[in-house]
Amino acid sequence: MSGTNNVVEFPKSNLPLPEVVFMGMVAGAFDAQEEGKSYRGFKVGVMGWSLPDKSGKIKSFRGANTKLAPDKPKDCGEMKVMRAALKASVRLAGLVVVGMPQHDHRSGLIYPTLHPCEECRVVMRRLRGVVITDDTHVITIHPTRLIFLQLTIPKLMAAHGESW
Ligand SMILES: [Zn+2]
Repeated sequence: MSGTNNVVEFPKSNLPLPEVVFMGMVAGAFDAQEEGKSYRGFKVGVMGWSLPDKSGKIKSFRGANTKLAPDKPKDCGEMKVMRAALKASVRLAGLVVVGMPQHDHRSGLIYPTLHPCEECRVVMRRLRGVVITDDTHVITIHPTRLIFLQLTIPKLMAAHGESW
């Protein structure tokens, strides 16, 4: 064997999920990204997973964005995941979001990874305590570079100057 190994130090995780399951969520979000339907080729893949039930089982949900034309409504992968969790009557422990970073439509900020948009953040606040909790984690991953960010929902809101 020859060549160079690039060693990357990851921050210590406090995700309430076994690492191997979390890897499945990441792979699922990358896979879901391919299902994104966007008139401008902007694709976002999302996986969400619930808090464990009494028997320790978790449910996972998958979504991708849909925006077929500039004048058509958008339906985000995050929104689809939150609706599915609401329907299943579970609270989400975490969300993984994979998409190319872009400027946030409300805060105007751009981060190294794509954050859930303003409309999604509004829905998150509306579903507070029902689907989204103070401890729901959002892990945003750059689709082509080894960059990711882990935020709790209150920190995500604060990152865009919004209250939780
Ligand atoms: Zn959104």
